[in-house]
Amino acid sequence: MHKICLVDDNMTNLTLARDILKTSYKVYPAPSAAKFFEIIENIRPDLILMDVDMPQMSGYEAVQILKNDERFANIPVIFLTAKTDEESELKGFKLGAVDYITKPFHQSIVKARIATHLTIVEQRRIIEKISLTDPLTQIPNRRFFDSEMAKEWKRAIRDGLSIGLMMIDADYFKKFNDEHGHQQGDAALQTLATVISSSIKRGTDFAARWGGEEFAVLLPNTGDDGISKVAENIRLNVEKTAVPCVDDPSQGLNITVSLGCASIKPSDADSIEDFVKKADSALYTAKQKGRNRFYLFK
Ligand code: GH3
Ligand code: MG
Ligand code: MG
Repeated sequence: MHKICLVDDNMTNLTLARDILKTSYKVYPAPSAAKFFEIIENIRPDLILMDVDMPQMSGYEAVQILKNDERFANIPVIFLTAKTDEESELKGFKLGAVDYITKPFHQSIVKARIATHLTIVEQRRIIEKISLTDPLTQIPNRRFFDSEMAKEWKRAIRDGLSIGLMMIDADYFKKFNDEHGHQQGDAALQTLATVISSSIKRGTDFAARWGGEEFAVLLPNTGDDGISKVAENIRLNVEKTAVPCVDDPSQGLNITVSLGCASIKPSDADSIEDFVKKADSALYTAKQKGRNRFYLFK
């Protein structure tokens, strides 16, 4: 069920709107903007129905604040108000509302408009998911990784914490493809994605397909010791997991990975680019030292 937050200082309106919507949606009524901001800290509504005229803070002001907060800026807002003049309506749209409905309203029309905007919400979510997921392995892609990395980097600077990065590359993968075919190579990448993703335990850890036969793992709040443990664990799990043969899944093929690790307690003087280069250079060393091993940048 979609979650809808209703904001209106008038109790009769609030109750009426809630009764209209509660059979189709999970409804969260808020009698003031202050209460509304309290609610959205804990529940992330899919849509907001906002009155305009309210004491203390108007619906316009509330939406202005909402749109400036990146956590909430994408939630569609529909103004539901007695203000019918052109200027008020235009102001609502300029503030970023997706719709503006005037009172008195027809229940069926309000419901239809809500349904339309929730369809758009779902479509946007699908597009977002596709754009951030690697189609072969179904784990996050490079684009998602870059945006997470940027966020965690900022957080690490702000909180004075370490951040760990691991670049993982399949060993002799060209040979694997040449010997077993590309379809089997794809199956190996799927196995690697599963093994890597399930080897990382903390909720903030993050694995992505970097491209080709390379994966990246981001470990917030993790230093050299931590990243070394995780790297060795991934290496071992890959080594002991067989890639199912595409022609005969009862048979398995072996594959190994090399891992380049780096950790940093970043400051404003550091750059993500240099940090990635360090993990990359550690990966190069791991390859040179014989593959199927991790190397920590020193
Ligand atoms: P090394 O141990 O030094 O990493 O050697 P390697 O053969 O793994 O490295 P190289 O960079 O020479 O080859 C990478 C291979 O990965 C070549 C490419 O065909 C294969 N590859 C990259 N992306 C995919 C993919 O999506 N599917 C399949 N099947 N193969 C891929
Ligand atoms: Mg490679
Ligand atoms: Mg390789």
